[in-house]
Amino acid sequence: MQTPQNIRVLKDDRILEIVWNESNTARLPLRLVRQSCRCAACVDEFTGRQILDPNSVPQDIGIEDIALTGNYALKIRWSDSHDTGLFTWTHLQAIGKVQAEQPAHEGQPES
Ligand SMILES: [Zn+2]
Repeated sequence: MQTPQNIRVLKDDRILEIVWNESNTARLPLRLVRQSCRCAACVDEFTGRQILDPNSVPQDIGIEDIALTGNYALKIRWSDSHDTGLFTWTHLQAIGKVQAEQPAHEGQPES
């Protein structure tokens, strides 16, 4: 499992920046990370079904506090006062992959 070399919250851009290595830096939109929370309040433990309505996450979601848990995960306290989620490195890498697969010009008209 890969461990980040550096983690920063870019507050103005609402981005969680994770430096995995020299050639791989992930910039994850905070809202996407919050929507990907897999705690028991957001995802049904037994069925894996998402309980959280992704649309209920505020557009301007922010991070109040961020802490390392062991050496395998981040614990994030969100501005919507949600703080039960743990984001493991594996999970954060998966979020980065989801983001990379989204179109770069989402919401902009094709020309
Ligand atoms: Zn959660």
